[in-house]
Amino acid sequence: MLIVQKFGGSSVANKERILNVANRIVEEYKKGNDVVVVLSAQGDTTDLLIEKALDINPKPSKRELDMLLSTGEQQSVALMSMAIHKLGYPSVSLNANQVKIESSGIYGNARIKNIATSRIKLELEKRNIVIITGFQGINNFGDITTLGRGGSDTTAVALAASLNAQLCEIYTDVDGIYTADPRIIKNACKLEEISYDEMLELASLGAKVLHNRSVELAKKYNVKLVVRSSLTVAKGTLVREESKVEKMLVSGLALDKDVSRITVVGIKDMPGMAFKVFSLLAKENIVADIIIQSVGSMRLKDISFTIKRTDLENTLYILEKNKDFLGHDSVNYDSSVVKLSVVGAGIASNPSIAAKMFEALYDVGTNIRMISTSEIKISVLIDAGDSERAAQSVHDKLMEENINLNL
Ligand code: ADP
Ligand code: ASP
Ligand code: MG
Repeated sequence: MLIVQKFGGSSVANKERILNVANRIVEEYKKGNDVVVVLSAQGDTTDLLIEKALDINPKPSKRELDMLLSTGEQQSVALMSMAIHKLGYPSVSLNANQVKIESSGIYGNARIKNIATSRIKLELEKRNIVIITGFQGINNFGDITTLGRGGSDTTAVALAASLNAQLCEIYTDVDGIYTADPRIIKNACKLEEISYDEMLELASLGAKVLHNRSVELAKKYNVKLVVRSSLTVAKGTLVREESKVEKMLVSGLALDKDVSRITVVGIKDMPGMAFKVFSLLAKENIVADIIIQSVGSMRLKDISFTIKRTDLENTLYILEKNKDFLGHDSVNYDSSVVKLSVVGAGIASNPSIAAKMFEALYDVGTNIRMISTSEIKISVLIDAGDSERAAQSVHDKLMEENINLNL
């Protein structure tokens, strides 16, 4: 059997953790399995590298930043291979260039386009444990790109798909996927399984336990994906197509802190204005999420929307640069907001879920600034200061009412 195992930053944070993981990998190998391992950078290495870059130049070139960030994963794989050798087992570490993980050209947010499997297969035939750098690819120019924060999960799933692995295990610092981040919501419940669609929605809405692109790929290639802890033997959560969780109305809650709200004030109330604003942003790869347009008066209207906080500076710049073209009065923004979402396959057919969520927010005096809904989720924008209290109240209301049926 071929297994892909991915270990996140906290699982390889120091010497003891590396040795612990090395032992787990060897255990799998001793069963006669082919083992391909994907690693993240140790602990908060990626954050520290970003800090270092910004200290030298507050606006570093994205190409150079990727060159720097990718070194974190390279350290991890080399150290892990050394640890496995110490245990007396054969292993080889490889980076994206050696494997030939081809990516698109967008530095800092590249997508994997193709993975050559020949080198990996050759190493597996030699009975080596193959340890591969997560988070990185090589673009058309032969440059190193990174896949976006948390992207090692995507490397693992892409490898599992390319190699036709029987299983892809994502080892992290929690023992599975919960109904909410267990570090924020203490009584969050562990899910035995969850569907790709619901997990994709949770991941896209800020539950960083899995990189959203990894869930997209797992669904596309039907990869059997399990999230579990590298520190315990607990069973973990299975992510798959058909899930009994789908019978639940609400499967989870996510909190996204990487949000800013922008309002374009006094834009002309005529056809084509939303098109102008959002196509300018789209050209720069800026995704606007919740969008609200005020009812016009005096032939003017306001358009408010949310973006990733990291896109704030660029968005303000674009709107200012195109002020004559758009003809608006002014722009204001707020970064002290968060997006709180509930996800569940039963939301579309059950209006009481929205009502219960709004009641839970009212119970703790939280003002809702924006709302957006879809078939499978309800998101609200609230003040950052309210976030944990609001998340706990919504979680308790929706879970305790047992709207989610038999957890
Ligand atoms: P790794 O370094 O292993 O990739 P991450 O920090 O990226 O780990 O993801 C694991 C973290 O995701 C957990 O520590 C937890 O705080 C957070 N998290 C957010 N939402 C959830 C959820 N619904 N279930 C489990 N963990 C969650
Ligand atoms: N090291 C990268 C990050 O911190 C990738 C990952 O951990 O998945 O974002
Ligand atoms: Mg992660």
